[in-house]
Amino acid sequence: MKRLLTLGSIVIFGASLAAYQAPAQAPTPTAAQLDVVKLKDNLYVITSSTPGNPATFSGGNVSVFITDSGVTLVDTKLAAWGQALLDKVKSITPKPVTTIVNTHTHGDHTGNNDKFGKVEVIAHENTKANMVKMPAFAADKAQFLPSKTFTNTLTVGTGKDQILLHYFGAAHTNGDAVIIFPALRIAQMGDMFAWKDAPGCDRNNGGSCVAYPKTLAGAAASLKNIDIVIPGHSPMMKVSDVQEYQRFMADLVSSSLAAMKAGKTVDEAFAAFSVAKYPGYKNERVKAAIQTIYDESK
Ligand SMILES: [Zn+2]
Repeated sequence: MKRLLTLGSIVIFGASLAAYQAPAQAPTPTAAQLDVVKLKDNLYVITSSTPGNPATFSGGNVSVFITDSGVTLVDTKLAAWGQALLDKVKSITPKPVTTIVNTHTHGDHTGNNDKFGKVEVIAHENTKANMVKMPAFAADKAQFLPSKTFTNTLTVGTGKDQILLHYFGAAHTNGDAVIIFPALRIAQMGDMFAWKDAPGCDRNNGGSCVAYPKTLAGAAASLKNIDIVIPGHSPMMKVSDVQEYQRFMADLVSSSLAAMKAGKTVDEAFAAFSVAKYPGYKNERVKAAIQTIYDESK
């Protein structure tokens, strides 16, 4: 069963893995392959973040926040896209990267922490504990692990350069940070809100589908005076999309638990759960999430 779970999580979390292992054969990605969305004069998002096609999937959305003292990156994409990411950041600003924030542990969000020299790396304390277990941060790469961690909240910088980090509990992993740029009225959610489909709940890194609705409710309530939400792997969203995602997850978890209690199989629970009432939602990952809810509730 443990082996099955491990294989399962590879399938779920690493559309990334295929890209990660491919660079020897695949041509080196270039900055031209990375799309950029300008949200403010001092905040850009490097996208090309939709999984599915290893040739174009570069890892999660990366924010480039330009402050007086340097650039803060939120997340660092897949390792194979390191040079492309460096070049793309340089095309946006001549300022050096001085700080990296990791929204969570996965390699498509932490893959290039080592490409910017020795900078401050900030993450939730559980994310640091998860990253310590990753081969990518073993031996001399351990210097690129988070140098600053937090438990519930952390404030970095002041005034227009300020960033707030919040933690609301287990969801995609047990270390998902919500990042707020208060002066810009923008928030970044990482893979707690990756897309309009069921999430991956990475139990090997402390994630929980059952806890997801409560964690999302906390996160959604914290999004005050926010106009734009940067999700993990899809185009820009609004606070109302996060609130809808919370309702979707509450619905998915309660229907799955009710189906389980009624003795239904995962297939039957999946057949009974329609995403039709959530406009624009897919159900490509719904069955896997229901399976996780069953597994968590045994
Ligand atoms: Zn992830």
